[in-house]
Amino acid sequence: MNEIKSEPLSLSTQAAQALGWVEPGFGGIVPPIYMASSYERDETGRYPGNHSYTRDQNPSFDQAEALLASMEGGSACMLFASGMAAATSIFEVLAPSAHVVIPKKMYFAIRMWLQRLAAKGRIRLSQVDHHDLEGLTQLMEIDPFDLMWIETPANPSSEIIDIRAWTEVAHQGGAKVVADNTLATPVLTRPLDYGVDLVMHSASKQLNGHGDVVAGALVTAKQDKFWEDLQFERGYRGAIVSPTASWLLLRGMRTLHLRVPASAASALRIANFLEAQSMVESVLYPGLESHPEHYLAKQQMQEGFGYVVTFALRGGEKEARHFISNLKLFKNASSLGSVESQAELRALTEGEASIIKSNLIRLSVGIESCDDLIHDLERAFFSSSDRCHGSK
Ligand code: PLP
Repeated sequence: MNEIKSEPLSLSTQAAQALGWVEPGFGGIVPPIYMASSYERDETGRYPGNHSYTRDQNPSFDQAEALLASMEGGSACMLFASGMAAATSIFEVLAPSAHVVIPKKMYFAIRMWLQRLAAKGRIRLSQVDHHDLEGLTQLMEIDPFDLMWIETPANPSSEIIDIRAWTEVAHQGGAKVVADNTLATPVLTRPLDYGVDLVMHSASKQLNGHGDVVAGALVTAKQDKFWEDLQFERGYRGAIVSPTASWLLLRGMRTLHLRVPASAASALRIANFLEAQSMVESVLYPGLESHPEHYLAKQQMQEGFGYVVTFALRGGEKEARHFISNLKLFKNASSLGSVESQAELRALTEGEASIIKSNLIRLSVGIESCDDLIHDLERAFFSSSDRCHGSK
């Protein structure tokens, strides 16, 4: 492939040109989808194209992996079948009884997965409050950890973690640090710049951005033994993404730098609008001055505070359900990060193990006209209340 130098090109140029690769066969400036599962050896027994079998690697992954590695400032990337496949691979390569530290508030499915691993005795799991740096330091001194997982902002309640401070503590005890960067994307925050060792993505979300791909990714700062173990893990468990999904992801990432600030600007307007509604109990959005870690979000996030706005409606689950059913533009659906906006009653999706309040509504803000989105919310407030929805 003819590659243009990715440094010092800006992230938007890297993304728009997908690193400027040109497909070698016909000179296509957009890659084909390589559907072959198997690749021919030459007479010496080698694979001239460095690909053997699609369970380990497929040429359709290469450009998307190179682009994401470059956008995150990492040295390599691997795509996976889903965000969960990427995340769980990390814990599969840990030694038996490894000590894993996670924040108390994080994406529920990964927390539940880890709790199950801990219950089976496969790992030891500790949970720390996202603002308790002192507690983290004490824990590290008493019982050094092997791996620390962070997620900032957290899905769905938008807690912010001080990435540099937490990473420094973990590194003092020799732990690896992995950051789930799904909500921020590299446009807003690049955790590797703060010393984190690996970044994980649910690429099903804003990286792809069109709601038509399920994929995950890991990006590493260094290609060390841990990374080699992860490569082995992906290849032998076959936790790979399909060539078509990888192609769609590459196409989606080409416009990431436009979609992220656009949805973040709308999300901030919507968060401010919600804060002024008498039917709203609280709004959780790192861009709001009322957010407890707003000062930290301002330091760690550029070009906005993300596309997820969560709010608690006065009343309970019944009122929240009713409110969502009155929305027309926001689709009542469970994923996030797509061009079209979605709203969901989060506790319903998370089920019985959820630690989320039953009246919490999570909005994923897309790239529609923000006026239209606010109008949709206004209409739902109006229909949900016999009183007029006046400002506080
Ligand atoms: N991490 C976060 C923050 C998520 O929101 C999700 C999914 O919603 C995941 C990880 C898991 O990703 P996937 O659904 O692609 O498996």
